[in-house]
Amino acid sequence: MSKDTVTAVREGGLRYTSKVGGSPFLGSGHTRSCFKCGKHRPPSSLQSLRVLGRNEVVCKPNCKTAE
Ligand SMILES: [Zn+2]
Repeated sequence: MSKDTVTAVREGGLRYTSKVGGSPFLGSGHTRSCFKCGKHRPPSSLQSLRVLGRNEVVCKPNCKTAE
């Protein structure tokens, strides 16, 4: 899952200086933070967990393996 890593695009030779919106966590652009440890990880390293009726995401297989 390493496509769409960079947001900066060239279109027809135009060069964009990439100012991408707000988040410092660019990664794949789809990182979410673990509900338990707060680390931002790509979806492939997260699993959903139902917490109090909501779906939260946590590290997969668990936070200890998270680097
Ligand atoms: Zn975690």
